[in-house]
Amino acid sequence: MASTRVIPLDCGYITDVEHSGQQYLRGFGQHICTQAVLWLVQSVHGTAVVDIGPGTPELVKERHGRTLVQAPDQHPLAALERLGVKPEDVDVVVQTHLHWDHCLGLDLELFPGADIFIQRAELAYAAAPYPAHAGLYDATVLHRLLPAFDRGYRNVKVIDGDFKLFKDCLLMKTPGHSPGTQATLVTTDSGVVAIASDNLPLQASWSGRTLEDWIPPGVHVNLDEFYASMTRLTAAADVVLPSHDASVLGQIFD
Ligand SMILES: [Zn+2]
Repeated sequence: MASTRVIPLDCGYITDVEHSGQQYLRGFGQHICTQAVLWLVQSVHGTAVVDIGPGTPELVKERHGRTLVQAPDQHPLAALERLGVKPEDVDVVVQTHLHWDHCLGLDLELFPGADIFIQRAELAYAAAPYPAHAGLYDATVLHRLLPAFDRGYRNVKVIDGDFKLFKDCLLMKTPGHSPGTQATLVTTDSGVVAIASDNLPLQASWSGRTLEDWIPPGVHVNLDEFYASMTRLTAAADVVLPSHDASVLGQIFD
């Protein structure tokens, strides 16, 4: 492997998602499918999975009554195996935030040797979200993360703000969508690639580098923070990638 690279992997899609939850004040009553993407970051300094995702159709149905359309070869381990990545090769799992569609797969304990990186603000908010956001979190996952002094998961690494994960990989705290949403910025040979997470769920949510070019996510806790986070992210990145858009699939960013 010559260089650092970012590879989005197809883990299926969730059906019947309200559009206005993805793009603020847009598409009321329209239902769309949202892509489940597991991001593989490969570097000489380490291997990271960014967002373990919703896991399996069974988990999603059982816990949240929703439909994840996922073929067997779209299971996270199958998708990684096709690229020659074994579970024990994964050093780090970055949780961009703790909404269930991004973290329910933690329950599968796919990468027993990996450290799990989560922003402190996200853990704090998940413990006591505003009621409007409560359904976005998963009780079982939270029961294993909280309280902090009695975790069910091993290897949880709580961070508070920007954090250099590897020499060529920075976790940037980008609140807005949720208090502890974090982006992952990877320095590749062709520039800095930003995995933006749910501040930008869809490709159409980011069409340029000014405020006019961004559509906030319908689900958010703070628009001031969203715009400040996007300004910072945009200044630091050459390529900005949305979280739930199938257009990123089939590409390698290196
Ligand atoms: Zn989210």
